[in-house]
Amino acid sequence: MSVAAERIERLHELARAAATEGDQERARYYVRLARRVAERNRLGLPRTFRRFTCDACDAYLRPGRNARVRLQDGHVVITCDCGEQARYPYDD
Ligand SMILES: [Zn+2]
Repeated sequence: MSVAAERIERLHELARAAATEGDQERARYYVRLARRVAERNRLGLPRTFRRFTCDACDAYLRPGRNARVRLQDGHVVITCDCGEQARYPYDD
């Protein structure tokens, strides 16, 4: 794994930890930093990172806390508190 990929993993963990502690602003900071590292190094973001972050407001999503999850037509629909929705195939 490249240094940049490791850095992204680490930032993902920090974002998750901050969100767990209820510090959404710090979580966003780490999410944005991870996106920037990925961009600068032309790396894709890990799937779990993409699933648990909002594309619109960079929140780290915690279903039941700042996001709602429902199933619809074989898809998982995640709605962030900001209103942004993301859809994923159920078994992907
Ligand atoms: Zn959002």
